[in-house]
Amino acid sequence: MTPLRMVIFGPPGSGKGTQAKLVSELYGIPHISTGDILREEVERGSDLGRMAESYMSRGLLVPDEVVIGIVRQRLMREDCRPGFILDGFPRTLRQAEELDRILGELGWRLDVVVNLVVSEEEVLRRITLRRVCSVCGEIYHLESNPPKRPSVCDRCGGRLYQRDDDTEETVRERLRVYRAQTEPVLRYYRERGLVRDVDGNPPIEEVFEEIKRLISSIKGPI
Ligand code: ADP
Ligand code: ADP
Ligand code: ZN
Repeated sequence: MTPLRMVIFGPPGSGKGTQAKLVSELYGIPHISTGDILREEVERGSDLGRMAESYMSRGLLVPDEVVIGIVRQRLMREDCRPGFILDGFPRTLRQAEELDRILGELGWRLDVVVNLVVSEEEVLRRITLRRVCSVCGEIYHLESNPPKRPSVCDRCGGRLYQRDDDTEETVRERLRVYRAQTEPVLRYYRERGLVRDVDGNPPIEEVFEEIKRLISSIKGPI
């Protein structure tokens, strides 16, 4: 298959990370999650991590220059040649414009922006019961996608934790930020004919089937 360069889009908790991991595995392309990269920096206690945490803990966006720099460096790496799936980036118009510039420098362009459509009520239910593996990053949900043993990752045995920003109050702020700063990005991509809306409400496997269908309709079968 020719390279697959896609963005997975949607509000916090819509299932971007879950679907991005599945796409990444099936198509053999890196899953680039700015949220995961920033959380690693926070974990490491780097200067960047400390700065980022002051925004993340309040549900606010980390400054554009910081995340754009991270993504630029990441896309330059060799493993992005067969393509990539961006998750949680771009989140502002400025980030979308800079992404176009970076891709232009590399002689690339996006194939598709998959927009996961999920109600705010469902998003709240998903985020407040989300658990993440502290070792491999696998994503669980206490009701819809629970681990076999409580607090233990099925894949690697790592300990599961709840993200600091997954509280109801912070999620409400993140949803406000999404509507004000991130939704305009969707219009930007719609004008360019790149957006495919996917119903994100069905079970994980069904949403993934739909995304695979969509990718084959654009790129042909794997
Ligand atoms: P995002 O990356 O958009 O914030 P996640 O992939 O982390 O979203 O998913 C948020 C939560 O919802 C997780 O607990 C995940 O297990 C759960 N989830 C993801 N997709 C579905 C789905 N289709 N149905 C039910 N729960 C889901
Ligand atoms: P979710 O999909 O649940 O909203 P993410 O893991 O994508 O969560 O992001 C968590 C936090 O990391 C965001 O609330 C924000 O503070 C920061 N962040 C992640 N990606 C970006 C980005 N592209 N621009 C600015 N801040 C970001
Ligand atoms: Zn794990």
